[in-house]
Amino acid sequence: VTDFKGKTVLVVGGSRGIGAAIVRDFAASGAKVRFTYAGATDAAKALAESTGAVAVQADAADRAALLQTVRDAGPIDVFVYNAGLLINGDPLELDADAVDRMIDVNVRGAYHGSVEAARAMPANGRIIVIGSVNGDRVPFPGISAYAMTKSALQGMARGLARDFGPRGITVNVVQPGPTDTGMNPADGPYASQMHAVMATGRHGTVDEVTHLVRYLASPGASGTTGAMHTIDGGFGA
Ligand code: NDP
Repeated sequence: VTDFKGKTVLVVGGSRGIGAAIVRDFAASGAKVRFTYAGATDAAKALAESTGAVAVQADAADRAALLQTVRDAGPIDVFVYNAGLLINGDPLELDADAVDRMIDVNVRGAYHGSVEAARAMPANGRIIVIGSVNGDRVPFPGISAYAMTKSALQGMARGLARDFGPRGITVNVVQPGPTDTGMNPADGPYASQMHAVMATGRHGTVDEVTHLVRYLASPGASGTTGAMHTIDGGFGA
């Protein structure tokens, strides 16, 4: 386990699922961890109590609140943008406001949060954004808007990697496939459809994703930037 003792980590969207696993992992590695959440107050409180991390309620779609949270964290060594919504269904039927909110959380927040984190980020800092294999592959109908938000993160990471590369800051996207969380339960209605196209034939675990995040955050990953890192059990193979 790489030691993150003394490092400051901010996880945007850390109360549940993949984000909560990332919070637990960095906290266990000695980092000073803050995380944000929007609605899951009880889960956020419990996570803060069990890990010693600081929970901050801030809607990632509210730019002013997000930027204030980033500034309040002080210089951030590792910025993880995990907040995400999945609005799926027939595009002819989807509520346009719900789609716009997904774009706000998945894309606008990722961009503005990452840029703000970079302002005061020390040399060799890390920006890690949680995308999705759906940024590359869309094997089912009903997820076009979600896939669009995750593809957008790819262009962002390529560009910000060049913008901040001279400072030793790396920018990477982690692209999970089906991962067992509240968003996508391993026993959910689409599980067997997803398992059928996966090499592993099962949902991934949040801890599998966390391993990759930890690697990208580590000093040894200094040459890895502007890149997409898919961890999808062969979903897109
Ligand atoms: P969950 O729905 O289980 O958890 C989402 C987390 O994001 C919660 O902590 C939630 O906080 C937070 N969040 C959502 N909206 C906001 C917001 N507006 N402001 C602040 N925090 C917010 O999802 P997962 O853990 O499954 O997903 C995490 C990321 O991984 C997402 O970006 C998702 O797109 C991506 N992903 C997930 C996959 C999967 O199969 N699970 C596959 C590929 C990618 P709260 O509820 O407290 O508001």
